[in-house]
Amino acid sequence: MAVRGPAPLSEEWLLGEYPFLPGAERWTAEFSVGELATAPRFDRTRAFGRARALAGADDPSGSTVLAELDRARPDERLLSFLYARLLLACAPSAAPIRRWAVAEAKRAYARLERGDPEVVREVAGRLGHPIEPLPAGGMTIDLAEYLHLAVPIREGAFRLGPQALRHGRVEVTDARAARLIEEAVRIELSRPPSIDPALAERVRGLEAPFFEEIARRTPAPRAAGPAGPTVLRADLFPPCVRKMRRTLESGENLSHAGRFALAAFLHRAGADEETIVDSYRGAPDFDESITRYQVEHITHRDGGRGYEPPECATLRSHGLCLREGDPSAPAPIDRARDPRCFEESLRHPLQYYRQRGGRVREDPDRDGPTTREGAGGRDAATPRGPERTPSTGRR
Ligand code: SF4
Repeated sequence: MAVRGPAPLSEEWLLGEYPFLPGAERWTAEFSVGELATAPRFDRTRAFGRARALAGADDPSGSTVLAELDRARPDERLLSFLYARLLLACAPSAAPIRRWAVAEAKRAYARLERGDPEVVREVAGRLGHPIEPLPAGGMTIDLAEYLHLAVPIREGAFRLGPQALRHGRVEVTDARAARLIEEAVRIELSRPPSIDPALAERVRGLEAPFFEEIARRTPAPRAAGPAGPTVLRADLFPPCVRKMRRTLESGENLSHAGRFALAAFLHRAGADEETIVDSYRGAPDFDESITRYQVEHITHRDGGRGYEPPECATLRSHGLCLREGDPSAPAPIDRARDPRCFEESLRHPLQYYRQRGGRVREDPDRDGPTTREGAGGRDAATPRGPERTPSTGRR
Protein backbone atom coordinates (compact mmCIF):
# COMPACT_ATOMS: atom_id res chain seq x y z
CA MET A 1 0.00 0.00 0.00
CA ALA A 2 1.35 3.42 -0.91
CA VAL A 3 2.12 5.33 2.25
CA ARG A 4 4.18 8.33 1.24
CA GLY A 5 4.53 10.02 -2.13
CA PRO A 6 7.47 11.88 -3.58
CA ALA A 7 5.77 15.19 -2.76
CA PRO A 8 3.63 14.33 0.28
CA LEU A 9 1.56 17.47 0.33
CA SER A 10 1.03 17.89 -3.39
CA GLU A 11 -2.65 18.12 -4.18
CA GLU A 12 -2.52 15.15 -6.54
CA TRP A 13 -0.81 12.90 -4.02
CA LEU A 14 -3.02 13.98 -1.14
CA LEU A 15 -6.29 13.32 -3.00
CA GLY A 16 -5.03 9.99 -4.34
CA GLU A 17 -4.17 8.84 -0.82
CA TYR A 18 -7.14 10.45 0.95
CA PRO A 19 -9.84 10.63 -1.75
CA PHE A 20 -12.58 11.52 0.74
CA LEU A 21 -11.12 15.02 1.18
CA PRO A 22 -12.94 18.02 -0.26
CA GLY A 23 -11.23 19.16 -3.46
CA ALA A 24 -11.87 16.13 -5.67
CA GLU A 25 -14.48 18.13 -7.61
CA ARG A 26 -11.70 19.91 -9.48
CA TRP A 27 -10.50 16.59 -10.92
CA THR A 28 -13.95 15.60 -12.04
CA ALA A 29 -14.92 18.94 -13.57
CA GLU A 30 -14.14 17.72 -17.10
CA PHE A 31 -16.71 14.93 -17.16
CA SER A 32 -20.10 14.10 -15.70
CA VAL A 33 -20.93 11.42 -13.16
CA GLY A 34 -22.91 9.74 -15.95
CA GLU A 35 -19.72 9.49 -18.02
CA LEU A 36 -17.85 8.00 -15.10
CA ALA A 37 -20.57 5.36 -14.92
CA THR A 38 -20.67 4.54 -18.64
CA ALA A 39 -17.76 5.83 -20.78
CA PRO A 40 -15.34 3.12 -22.02
CA ARG A 41 -12.34 5.26 -21.02
CA PHE A 42 -13.34 4.69 -17.38
CA ASP A 43 -13.57 0.87 -17.64
CA ARG A 44 -10.46 0.36 -15.52
CA THR A 45 -11.58 2.97 -12.98
CA ARG A 46 -14.95 1.25 -12.60
CA ALA A 47 -13.27 -2.13 -12.14
CA PHE A 48 -11.16 -0.63 -9.34
CA GLY A 49 -14.27 0.97 -7.85
CA ARG A 50 -16.14 -2.34 -7.78
CA ALA A 51 -13.11 -4.06 -6.19
CA ARG A 52 -12.94 -1.31 -3.58
CA ALA A 53 -16.62 -1.65 -2.69
CA LEU A 54 -16.53 -5.46 -2.56
CA ALA A 55 -13.39 -5.40 -0.39
CA GLY A 56 -15.35 -3.34 2.14
CA ALA A 57 -18.21 -5.88 2.13
CA ASP A 58 -15.79 -8.78 2.58
CA ASP A 59 -13.58 -7.21 5.19
CA PRO A 60 -14.54 -4.02 7.02
CA SER A 61 -11.23 -4.15 8.88
CA GLY A 62 -9.77 -2.47 5.77
CA SER A 63 -6.82 -4.85 5.70
CA THR A 64 -7.65 -6.47 2.35
CA VAL A 65 -4.77 -5.59 0.04
CA LEU A 66 -5.83 -4.32 -3.38
CA ALA A 67 -2.37 -4.54 -4.91
CA GLU A 68 -3.27 -3.30 -8.38
CA LEU A 69 -5.17 -0.34 -6.94
CA ASP A 70 -2.24 0.56 -4.70
CA ARG A 71 -0.01 0.68 -7.79
CA ALA A 72 -2.49 2.77 -9.76
CA ARG A 73 -2.02 6.46 -10.55
CA PRO A 74 -3.35 8.94 -7.97
CA ASP A 75 -6.14 10.04 -10.34
CA GLU A 76 -7.24 6.41 -10.84
CA ARG A 77 -7.28 5.84 -7.10
CA LEU A 78 -9.34 8.96 -6.57
CA LEU A 79 -11.84 8.17 -9.34
CA SER A 80 -12.19 4.54 -8.26
CA PHE A 81 -13.08 5.80 -4.79
CA LEU A 82 -15.70 8.15 -6.23
CA TYR A 83 -17.14 5.34 -8.34
CA ALA A 84 -17.29 2.97 -5.36
CA ARG A 85 -19.16 5.64 -3.43
CA LEU A 86 -21.55 6.21 -6.32
CA LEU A 87 -22.26 2.47 -6.59
CA LEU A 88 -22.90 2.07 -2.89
CA ALA A 89 -25.12 5.15 -2.79
CA CYS A 90 -27.29 3.39 -5.40
CA ALA A 91 -27.48 0.12 -3.41
CA PRO A 92 -30.96 -0.80 -2.15
CA SER A 93 -29.74 -1.18 1.44
CA ALA A 94 -27.57 1.13 3.58
CA ALA A 95 -25.59 -1.77 5.08
CA PRO A 96 -22.94 -2.03 2.28
CA ILE A 97 -22.06 1.68 2.34
CA ARG A 98 -21.72 1.59 6.13
CA ARG A 99 -19.40 -1.43 6.00
CA TRP A 100 -17.40 0.20 3.22
CA ALA A 101 -17.15 3.44 5.24
CA VAL A 102 -15.58 1.46 8.08
CA ALA A 103 -13.11 -0.22 5.69
CA GLU A 104 -12.06 3.03 3.97
CA ALA A 105 -11.74 4.80 7.32
CA LYS A 106 -9.49 2.02 8.63
CA ARG A 107 -7.36 2.20 5.47
CA ALA A 108 -6.95 5.92 6.08
CA TYR A 109 -6.01 5.23 9.70
CA ALA A 110 -3.31 2.75 8.63
CA ARG A 111 -1.72 5.40 6.39
CA LEU A 112 -2.08 8.27 8.86
CA GLU A 113 -0.73 6.34 11.81
CA ARG A 114 2.54 5.75 9.95
CA GLY A 115 2.59 9.08 8.19
CA ASP A 116 4.01 12.55 8.70
CA PRO A 117 2.28 14.67 11.41
CA GLU A 118 1.96 17.42 8.81
CA VAL A 119 -0.19 15.10 6.69
CA VAL A 120 -2.32 14.30 9.75
CA ARG A 121 -2.75 18.01 10.38
CA GLU A 122 -3.66 18.68 6.74
CA VAL A 123 -6.17 15.81 6.50
CA ALA A 124 -7.83 16.67 9.82
CA GLY A 125 -8.07 20.36 8.90
CA ARG A 126 -9.62 19.64 5.50
CA LEU A 127 -12.18 17.38 7.15
CA GLY A 128 -13.15 20.28 9.41
CA HIS A 129 -11.61 18.89 12.62
CA PRO A 130 -8.37 20.88 13.16
CA ILE A 131 -5.67 18.88 14.96
CA GLU A 132 -2.31 20.53 15.60
CA PRO A 133 1.06 18.79 16.14
CA LEU A 134 2.81 19.67 19.42
CA PRO A 135 6.50 20.67 19.25
CA ALA A 136 7.52 17.89 21.67
CA GLY A 137 5.44 15.20 19.91
CA GLY A 138 1.78 14.26 20.02
CA MET A 139 -1.16 16.34 18.86
CA THR A 140 -3.74 18.66 20.34
CA ILE A 141 -7.43 19.03 19.48
CA ASP A 142 -10.18 21.35 20.67
CA LEU A 143 -12.25 19.75 23.48
CA ALA A 144 -15.59 20.04 21.63
CA GLU A 145 -14.06 18.45 18.51
CA TYR A 146 -12.55 15.70 20.65
CA LEU A 147 -15.90 14.88 22.22
CA HIS A 148 -17.64 14.91 18.85
CA LEU A 149 -15.21 12.33 17.44
CA ALA A 150 -14.39 10.30 20.55
CA VAL A 151 -17.89 9.64 21.91
CA PRO A 152 -18.87 7.07 19.23
CA ILE A 153 -15.53 5.26 19.76
CA ARG A 154 -16.24 2.40 22.12
CA GLU A 155 -12.60 2.06 23.20
CA GLY A 156 -12.11 2.83 26.89
CA ALA A 157 -8.84 4.70 26.26
CA PHE A 158 -10.81 7.47 24.51
CA ARG A 159 -13.01 8.35 27.47
CA LEU A 160 -12.45 11.93 28.49
CA GLY A 161 -11.47 11.20 32.11
CA PRO A 162 -7.87 10.02 31.51
CA GLN A 163 -7.06 12.61 28.80
CA ALA A 164 -4.60 15.48 29.32
CA LEU A 165 -6.57 18.69 29.02
CA ARG A 166 -4.91 22.11 28.68
CA HIS A 167 -6.59 25.44 27.93
CA GLY A 168 -9.67 23.78 26.44
CA ARG A 169 -7.65 21.41 24.24
CA VAL A 170 -7.05 17.67 24.58
CA GLU A 171 -3.55 16.30 24.04
CA VAL A 172 -3.40 12.97 22.23
CA THR A 173 -0.73 10.69 20.83
CA ASP A 174 -0.18 10.59 17.07
CA ALA A 175 -1.92 7.20 16.92
CA ARG A 176 -4.98 8.50 18.77
CA ALA A 177 -5.12 11.54 16.51
CA ALA A 178 -5.17 9.15 13.54
CA ARG A 179 -7.93 7.14 15.23
CA LEU A 180 -10.02 10.29 15.74
CA ILE A 181 -9.62 11.10 12.05
CA GLU A 182 -10.65 7.53 11.22
CA GLU A 183 -13.89 8.19 13.06
CA ALA A 184 -14.41 11.47 11.17
CA VAL A 185 -13.92 9.62 7.87
CA ARG A 186 -16.30 6.83 8.88
CA ILE A 187 -19.01 9.33 9.81
CA GLU A 188 -18.54 11.26 6.56
CA LEU A 189 -18.56 8.21 4.28
CA SER A 190 -21.50 6.54 6.03
CA ARG A 191 -23.74 9.27 4.65
CA PRO A 192 -24.60 8.43 1.05
CA PRO A 193 -24.24 11.38 -1.32
CA SER A 194 -27.49 12.42 -2.96
CA ILE A 195 -27.78 10.92 -6.45
CA ASP A 196 -30.21 11.87 -9.18
CA PRO A 197 -32.87 9.11 -9.06
CA ALA A 198 -32.73 8.56 -12.84
CA LEU A 199 -28.95 8.09 -12.71
CA ALA A 200 -29.28 5.75 -9.72
CA GLU A 201 -31.77 3.64 -11.66
CA ARG A 202 -29.43 3.55 -14.65
CA VAL A 203 -26.45 2.54 -12.51
CA ARG A 204 -28.50 -0.25 -10.89
CA GLY A 205 -29.33 -1.58 -14.34
CA LEU A 206 -25.78 -1.31 -15.71
CA GLU A 207 -24.21 -2.81 -12.60
CA ALA A 208 -26.82 -5.47 -11.81
CA PRO A 209 -24.19 -8.24 -11.36
CA PHE A 210 -22.28 -6.02 -8.92
CA PHE A 211 -25.39 -5.39 -6.81
CA GLU A 212 -26.18 -9.10 -6.72
CA GLU A 213 -22.63 -9.82 -5.65
CA ILE A 214 -22.50 -7.19 -2.90
CA ALA A 215 -25.87 -8.33 -1.53
CA ARG A 216 -24.49 -11.87 -1.42
CA ARG A 217 -21.31 -10.76 0.38
CA THR A 218 -22.88 -8.34 2.89
CA PRO A 219 -23.96 -10.19 6.02
CA ALA A 220 -27.72 -9.75 6.39
CA PRO A 221 -29.66 -9.53 9.64
CA ARG A 222 -31.56 -12.76 10.16
CA ALA A 223 -34.79 -13.34 12.01
CA ALA A 224 -34.65 -14.93 15.42
CA GLY A 225 -36.03 -18.44 15.75
CA PRO A 226 -36.87 -20.95 18.45
CA ALA A 227 -34.31 -20.86 21.24
CA GLY A 228 -33.77 -23.80 23.52
CA PRO A 229 -36.72 -24.69 25.68
CA THR A 230 -38.26 -21.24 25.34
CA VAL A 231 -39.58 -19.33 22.36
CA LEU A 232 -38.08 -15.93 21.68
CA ARG A 233 -40.90 -13.37 21.44
CA ALA A 234 -39.27 -10.38 19.76
CA ASP A 235 -42.70 -8.71 19.54
CA LEU A 236 -42.72 -8.55 23.36
CA PHE A 237 -39.30 -6.93 23.73
CA PRO A 238 -39.15 -3.54 25.48
CA PRO A 239 -38.66 -0.35 23.41
CA CYS A 240 -34.95 -0.09 24.33
CA VAL A 241 -34.15 -3.58 23.01
CA ARG A 242 -36.30 -3.12 19.90
CA LYS A 243 -34.33 0.06 19.17
CA MET A 244 -30.96 -1.70 19.63
CA ARG A 245 -32.03 -4.33 17.11
CA ARG A 246 -33.29 -1.74 14.63
CA THR A 247 -30.02 0.17 14.93
CA LEU A 248 -27.97 -2.88 13.98
CA GLU A 249 -30.39 -4.08 11.31
CA SER A 250 -30.13 -0.72 9.56
CA GLY A 251 -26.33 -0.98 9.55
CA GLU A 252 -25.76 1.77 12.11
CA ASN A 253 -23.31 1.77 14.96
CA LEU A 254 -24.50 0.68 18.40
CA SER A 255 -22.56 1.86 21.44
CA HIS A 256 -20.43 -0.43 23.59
CA ALA A 257 -23.09 -0.33 26.33
CA GLY A 258 -25.87 -1.10 23.83
CA ARG A 259 -24.02 -4.07 22.33
CA PHE A 260 -23.42 -5.57 25.74
CA ALA A 261 -27.00 -4.95 26.92
CA LEU A 262 -28.46 -6.53 23.78
CA ALA A 263 -26.39 -9.73 23.98
CA ALA A 264 -27.04 -10.12 27.70
CA PHE A 265 -30.79 -9.48 27.28
CA LEU A 266 -31.21 -11.85 24.33
CA HIS A 267 -29.40 -14.61 26.20
CA ARG A 268 -31.63 -14.26 29.27
CA ALA A 269 -34.69 -14.06 27.02
CA GLY A 270 -33.80 -17.51 25.74
CA ALA A 271 -32.08 -16.76 22.41
CA ASP A 272 -29.47 -19.30 21.38
CA GLU A 273 -25.96 -18.20 20.44
CA GLU A 274 -26.62 -18.29 16.69
CA THR A 275 -29.57 -15.93 17.09
CA ILE A 276 -27.51 -13.55 19.22
CA VAL A 277 -24.59 -13.54 16.75
CA ASP A 278 -27.05 -12.97 13.90
CA SER A 279 -28.35 -9.86 15.65
CA TYR A 280 -24.99 -8.18 15.05
CA ARG A 281 -24.66 -9.05 11.37
CA GLY A 282 -25.84 -5.61 10.30
CA ALA A 283 -23.17 -3.81 12.40
CA PRO A 284 -20.83 -1.82 10.15
CA ASP A 285 -17.79 -3.47 11.74
CA PHE A 286 -19.30 -6.97 11.98
CA ASP A 287 -16.66 -9.67 12.31
CA GLU A 288 -18.11 -13.13 12.76
CA SER A 289 -15.27 -14.74 14.70
CA ILE A 290 -14.85 -11.82 17.11
CA THR A 291 -18.61 -11.53 17.62
CA ARG A 292 -18.91 -15.25 18.31
CA TYR A 293 -16.08 -15.09 20.82
CA GLN A 294 -17.60 -12.09 22.61
CA VAL A 295 -21.09 -13.58 22.67
CA GLU A 296 -19.69 -16.76 24.20
CA HIS A 297 -17.90 -14.67 26.80
CA ILE A 298 -21.12 -12.87 27.74
CA THR A 299 -23.37 -15.94 27.74
CA HIS A 300 -21.11 -18.59 29.29
CA ARG A 301 -20.50 -16.69 32.50
CA ASP A 302 -21.79 -18.10 35.78
CA GLY A 303 -22.34 -21.62 34.49
CA GLY A 304 -24.27 -20.42 31.42
CA ARG A 305 -26.52 -17.92 33.21
CA GLY A 306 -24.59 -15.14 31.52
CA TYR A 307 -23.94 -11.53 32.51
CA GLU A 308 -26.94 -9.74 33.97
CA PRO A 309 -28.40 -7.28 31.45
CA PRO A 310 -28.31 -3.68 32.77
CA GLU A 311 -31.38 -2.36 34.53
CA CYS A 312 -33.51 0.55 33.27
CA ALA A 313 -31.68 3.24 35.28
CA THR A 314 -28.35 2.15 33.78
CA LEU A 315 -29.75 2.06 30.26
CA ARG A 316 -31.23 5.51 30.81
CA SER A 317 -27.84 6.88 31.91
CA HIS A 318 -26.37 5.58 28.61
CA GLY A 319 -29.13 7.18 26.54
CA LEU A 320 -30.50 3.74 25.58
CA CYS A 321 -33.96 3.97 27.17
CA LEU A 322 -36.63 4.57 24.51
CA ARG A 323 -39.73 4.75 26.69
CA GLU A 324 -40.68 8.14 25.20
CA GLY A 325 -40.85 6.51 21.75
CA ASP A 326 -38.58 6.70 18.73
CA PRO A 327 -39.77 9.38 16.27
CA SER A 328 -37.55 7.94 13.51
CA ALA A 329 -38.99 4.41 13.74
CA PRO A 330 -41.06 3.20 10.76
CA ALA A 331 -43.65 1.28 12.87
CA PRO A 332 -46.25 3.30 14.88
CA ILE A 333 -45.77 1.03 17.90
CA ASP A 334 -42.08 2.03 18.08
CA ARG A 335 -42.84 5.73 17.66
CA ALA A 336 -45.32 5.78 20.53
CA ARG A 337 -44.61 6.43 24.20
CA ASP A 338 -44.86 3.14 26.14
CA PRO A 339 -46.94 3.59 29.34
CA ARG A 340 -45.71 0.27 30.76
CA CYS A 341 -42.20 1.76 30.95
CA PHE A 342 -43.46 4.61 33.17
CA GLU A 343 -44.87 2.32 35.86
CA GLU A 344 -43.01 2.91 39.08
CA SER A 345 -42.39 -0.78 39.69
CA LEU A 346 -40.66 -1.32 36.35
CA ARG A 347 -36.94 -1.39 36.86
CA HIS A 348 -35.62 -3.85 34.32
CA PRO A 349 -36.11 -4.71 30.62
CA LEU A 350 -36.47 -8.41 31.49
CA GLN A 351 -39.25 -7.48 33.90
CA TYR A 352 -41.02 -5.73 31.00
CA TYR A 353 -40.55 -8.78 28.77
CA ARG A 354 -41.91 -11.12 31.39
CA GLN A 355 -44.87 -8.89 32.23
CA ARG A 356 -45.90 -9.07 28.59
CA GLY A 357 -45.77 -12.87 28.59
CA GLY A 358 -42.17 -13.59 27.57
CA ARG A 359 -40.22 -16.26 29.42
CA VAL A 360 -36.81 -15.61 30.92
CA ARG A 361 -34.05 -18.22 31.03
CA GLU A 362 -33.25 -19.71 34.45
CA ASP A 363 -35.60 -17.30 36.12
CA PRO A 364 -35.89 -18.21 39.80
CA ASP A 365 -38.33 -15.44 40.74
CA ARG A 366 -41.44 -14.75 38.67
CA ASP A 367 -42.42 -11.72 40.78
CA GLY A 368 -39.41 -9.48 40.19
CA PRO A 369 -36.83 -9.08 37.48
CA THR A 370 -34.61 -11.65 39.23
CA THR A 371 -34.14 -12.53 42.89
CA ARG A 372 -31.34 -10.00 43.26
CA GLU A 373 -33.17 -7.29 41.34
CA GLY A 374 -36.25 -7.90 43.42
CA ALA A 375 -34.19 -7.09 46.49
CA GLY A 376 -34.13 -3.50 45.35
CA GLY A 377 -31.87 -2.18 42.61
CA ARG A 378 -29.14 -4.27 41.18
CA ASP A 379 -26.27 -2.07 40.20
CA ALA A 380 -24.09 -3.12 43.09
CA ALA A 381 -24.69 -6.78 42.31
CA THR A 382 -24.49 -6.39 38.55
CA PRO A 383 -21.16 -7.44 37.13
CA ARG A 384 -19.63 -4.91 34.77
CA GLY A 385 -19.88 -5.94 31.18
CA PRO A 386 -16.72 -7.03 29.40
CA GLU A 387 -14.57 -4.27 27.92
CA ARG A 388 -14.96 -5.73 24.44
CA THR A 389 -18.37 -6.29 22.94
CA PRO A 390 -19.68 -7.70 19.67
CA SER A 391 -18.71 -7.09 16.86
CA THR A 392 -15.23 -5.69 17.14
CA GLY A 393 -12.35 -6.63 19.40
CA ARG A 394 -10.81 -3.17 19.24
CA ARG A 395 -10.45 -1.34 22.53
S1 SF4 B 1 -38.06 1.92 30.85
FE1 SF4 B 1 -36.68 0.20 30.90
S2 SF4 B 1 -37.62 -1.36 29.63
FE2 SF4 B 1 -38.61 0.59 29.12
S3 SF4 B 1 -37.43 1.39 27.38
FE3 SF4 B 1 -36.56 2.26 29.23
S4 SF4 B 1 -34.89 0.90 29.74
FE4 SF4 B 1 -36.20 -0.20 28.32
